[in-house]
Amino acid sequence: MTSDDALVTSAQNTWCPGCGNFAIQHAIKFVIQELETEGIPRDHMVLVSGIGCHAKIADYFQINSFYSLHGRTIPVATGIKMANPDLKVICFAGDGDLYAEGLDHLIHAAKRNIDITVICHNNRVYGLTTGQYTPTSPYGYRGKSTPAGLHEYPINIIELLLGAGATFVSRGYTRHLPHLKRIFKEAILHQGFAHVDVLQICATYFNLTTWYDERVYETNESNSTLFEFACRTANLWNYNDDSKIPIGIFFQTKKPSLPEKKIRKEVDRAHLIRTILERSI
Ligand code: SF4
Ligand code: MG
Repeated sequence: MTSDDALVTSAQNTWCPGCGNFAIQHAIKFVIQELETEGIPRDHMVLVSGIGCHAKIADYFQINSFYSLHGRTIPVATGIKMANPDLKVICFAGDGDLYAEGLDHLIHAAKRNIDITVICHNNRVYGLTTGQYTPTSPYGYRGKSTPAGLHEYPINIIELLLGAGATFVSRGYTRHLPHLKRIFKEAILHQGFAHVDVLQICATYFNLTTWYDERVYETNESNSTLFEFACRTANLWNYNDDSKIPIGIFFQTKKPSLPEKKIRKEVDRAHLIRTILERSI
């Protein structure tokens, strides 16, 4: 571990006091520093963020990053990985960002097993635009766009990702910091598509601190290589009911990831053929 604070920029932090994004920032900073001491230099890592409160994380780290469009972190991250397969590419996205507009990209990235890490700051609300419901808001949620209460049930994103073929599926909580650090590190080191759904406190528009504190527990991961176990664990809480909420690595398996190097060669070959043809005309 180094105590290198040059990793954090001097940009003014504008997250609200008590926001769970601070915990995510702290955890990822710790992991980047730890990975450096283990031989992965920070210039071999790229952060990609979307649009929303979470996205400011790209402003706060002195590291290669790409502040992308709403819902489009994954296509950008995929492009970066294809161009340079040696990089560790880490996407940060919000739940409104990733599970609404960006959902098709998420499903297909999991299906392709592209070797990137996706961290969702899941505060179950659109925070930056002051509290509208998202795909993981609970039934009855009252916000700016649903003053009489939400009439939809949330998506169980863990189940969805298991069904899509993700090879690393996990959930963290911003008030379980050592656990969050460990999950982030394992997700980044995983070969293939890794997803971390982080229950992130939005202190201003949907403060679930007490509610989560009473329910969240760290699950036993000894059977996380078993798909059936993962499905059962995913069903223990559906993002809506009052059950206890397991956090941890639900599923991890090895599967060939999208062979970036091979595809890169195919792209280079296609460029070469086109150049030869253009010159011969
Ligand atoms: Fe954090 Fe919510 Fe404030 Fe956004 S609105 S910075 S998510 S507490
Ligand atoms: Mg959100």
